[in-house]
Amino acid sequence: MKVKTKLYLGFGFILIILLLLASYMLFTLNQQHKFMEEIVQENYERVKLVNSLKGDTLTTGREIRELLLLDNQEDTIEKISQIHTLRENTTTTIESLLLVPSINAQTRETLISLRSHNQAYSDFIESIIDEVSNGSKDSAIQLLMNDTTNIRQVIVTEIEKFTSYEEELMNQSLQESEQAYQVTFTALIIIVIVCVALVLGVSISVVKSISTSINKVRQVMTNVTNIKDGNFPRVEVNAKDEIGEIGLAYNEMANSLETSFQHEQELKLSLQEENWIKTKHTELAIEFQGIQDLEEFGQLFLCKVSPLVQASYSAFYVTNGSGAMNRIAAYAGNGEDIPHVKFDIGEGLVGQCAKDKQTLSFETLPSNYIVTKSGLGQANPTTLLLLPIEFEGDIYGVLEIAKFEPFTSIENRLLQQVCETSGSSIDRILDHMRIEELLSESQTLTEELQTQSEELQQQQEELRLINEQLHEQYKKSDDKTKELQRIKEDLEEKNRGIKLSSKYKSEFLANMSHELRTPLNSMLILSQMLAQNTEGNLSEKQIEHAHTIYSSGTDLLDLINDILDLSKIESGKFEVYPEEVLLTDIEAFVKRQFLPVSRHKGVYFSIDVHSDAPTILFTDDQRLKQILKNLLSNAFKFTNEGGVTLRISQGLGSDSRSKIKFTVIDTGIGIAKDKLESIFEAFYQSDGTTSRKYGGTGLGLSICRDLATRLGGFIEVESIEGQGSSFTLHLPDFEGLPGLTSSDIEVAASEEIVGDEKEVEEESVEVEAQQEEVESKHLLENKVVLVVDDDMRNVFALTTALESQKMDVLFAENGKEAIHMLEENDAIDIVLMDIMMPEMNGFDAMREIRKKEQFEHLPIIALTAKAMKTDKEKCINAGASDYISKPVNIEQLVSLIKVWLYNEGERH
Ligand code: ADP
Repeated sequence: MKVKTKLYLGFGFILIILLLLASYMLFTLNQQHKFMEEIVQENYERVKLVNSLKGDTLTTGREIRELLLLDNQEDTIEKISQIHTLRENTTTTIESLLLVPSINAQTRETLISLRSHNQAYSDFIESIIDEVSNGSKDSAIQLLMNDTTNIRQVIVTEIEKFTSYEEELMNQSLQESEQAYQVTFTALIIIVIVCVALVLGVSISVVKSISTSINKVRQVMTNVTNIKDGNFPRVEVNAKDEIGEIGLAYNEMANSLETSFQHEQELKLSLQEENWIKTKHTELAIEFQGIQDLEEFGQLFLCKVSPLVQASYSAFYVTNGSGAMNRIAAYAGNGEDIPHVKFDIGEGLVGQCAKDKQTLSFETLPSNYIVTKSGLGQANPTTLLLLPIEFEGDIYGVLEIAKFEPFTSIENRLLQQVCETSGSSIDRILDHMRIEELLSESQTLTEELQTQSEELQQQQEELRLINEQLHEQYKKSDDKTKELQRIKEDLEEKNRGIKLSSKYKSEFLANMSHELRTPLNSMLILSQMLAQNTEGNLSEKQIEHAHTIYSSGTDLLDLINDILDLSKIESGKFEVYPEEVLLTDIEAFVKRQFLPVSRHKGVYFSIDVHSDAPTILFTDDQRLKQILKNLLSNAFKFTNEGGVTLRISQGLGSDSRSKIKFTVIDTGIGIAKDKLESIFEAFYQSDGTTSRKYGGTGLGLSICRDLATRLGGFIEVESIEGQGSSFTLHLPDFEGLPGLTSSDIEVAASEEIVGDEKEVEEESVEVEAQQEEVESKHLLENKVVLVVDDDMRNVFALTTALESQKMDVLFAENGKEAIHMLEENDAIDIVLMDIMMPEMNGFDAMREIRKKEQFEHLPIIALTAKAMKTDKEKCINAGASDYISKPVNIEQLVSLIKVWLYNEGERH
């Protein structure tokens, strides 16, 4: 039974007993009370009623007497009424008494008798009242006096008898009540004693049963505090009450305590292991801390780690920075036992471990794998472990370790942890070693520097001494310097003089060539005209002389041109005007120039243009032609048999200076090997004797080489003496031209120079020319030309030439005169204007002429002396329609005049 139920039952029982007891007591008390009330109420009522009856009876007697004494009618009537009321009260009282239920028979008998007596008395009183009412007061008094029965007294006596009987009854009741009280009290005492006994019994039994169970549990629980082995006692559970449940709960708690005790033990063990690993790890780390040498580190590592894990054999490998690993230390082994001292990454298990960066473990090694020896014996380790040593993802080495038994998990973990942290140690040692190395280098450097510094100090000291000496010398030399300064100034003065004189020289050369050309001009024009023998009055010999004069003049002009070119090149004034040049143009030019020569000399001339040659070049057309003309002239000059070939082909390609090459090959006399270089020197001729067979100045090749260089190319020569020579001109594409870009392109005006007449024109060309000449003569007939020139020889030559074209020629000596003549003579068709003249030069004159409206479109052809580009530009700017350089080529002049008189003139 549960404790709760037990307690409910015990206390319930006690409560019921108490309730029964209380009920009983209440019932008994109620009985007593009722009983007492009955006694008191009924008896008291009866006695009270009887006493009032007694009083009323006695009062009636007194009132009757007073009535009889009254003589007033009104008072009498009132008195009678009072008496009647009293009599009615007595009757009512007796009737009430008879109605009381508990009256016994004796009482009832007494009351009935009392009623009859009272009735008799009432009748008597009524008879008296009747007499009074009838006015016979005396008879009434008589009646009263005659009353022998004395009925009133009988009634009173009976009432007293009744009263005493009632008192006796009351006493009797009181005694009964006293007895009942005594019985009740005794019963109550007995009941209380019984109840107390019962309650005690129940309480003791309940308390005992509960405390026994609790004690059992307490006993078991008290023992728990002393348990050390984790085996907790269990409570024996018999009852199914709360204590039993406590027992069960305790047993469950003991179960879980046992489990947690086991866990705690395991945890403790693992903490101990962890602690051991940590301690050993820390000890090792401290040991490794101060080590600065890799091999020392490896040796210490193995010596400390191997005994900790009871390894019988171990080796330590470290990467050497070039993808391989070297064994730097071994434990309990020697070179013979561990033959391998170097592994590549991926080679063998050591290399594989480094490559995979993963631990490799082998549990059952074959018996011949490794042998561990001691003085007393030898055996084979059975377990092999290879662990990678890493730091920040890079492999630094491998630990190889062997043991007789398998490695325990704690040993394994220690090895893993030690290897994990060793990477940083190795990294640190490597850093340290590098720093050491650098430090020693820097120390060496410092020492060197120190030595140098000492040397420098020494030198400085020496220098100081020298300085002092120098200072002294300086003073001396200062004087000399001043002297030198004077000399320098003198020299500078002289230098300026030299520069000036060099300038003068160039100017002189230019002016000289001009001065030479002017007379040559008239000589050439006239000799040419003479040779033509237009009037037919010259003998054969005279014509030949004229030819000779003409050809000598031309040679002279060539020489002058060469000298001018050379001086320009030397003074750096030589200018290059690149333009687009068609190869076909070049081809036509050389054909025109040299076909007649080849015919004349009776040698062949072939032009061989390769298909790979570019069709358009970008170069200075005139200079290119000049070079080719020179090379071909030489070739023809030195070739008497066979012939000359011009081969045009693609350049070398490997050299940017060679986009195209022009090779002039001849079958002439050739050049000796030792003279191949010198032929390019100015004024050099391989046959320099006075009796030389071939003419020439020795300037041609020198100019050609310089020109080729200025055009961005070069000239090569190959020759076999007696067999022939080949000169090759290499030219670049236009980007290769030094100092020039396409934006600088200015097309230079062609400068044809008189001096190509020594060659004999091709017959057909000649015929054409003659026809043209006939036409042109006709064209220029009667046209008026004004020649403005101060040089009479020139005027004469030009006049003669132009008059032969049937033109009317006027002349003026200077600009002023020309303007004057133009104003005078409006028939002038065209003006030939020289530039250098006294009074008013050609530029000013042209400007003046153009100012006048009527001469706005007058063709003016300027005759420039120097073939400078600026001169030509200046001419056009001053108002010239066109220009032609001196010495004047008559044909060219004539065709120019035609152009301006007809074509251009028509346009205006
Ligand atoms: P020159 O006006 O005398 O020809 P160059 O400078 O043109 O002057 O030539 C110099 C010398 O080189 C010539 O005198 C000649 O001896 C030699 N030379 C030039 N070209 C040839 C050639 N094609 N065959 C043989 N010798 C040559």
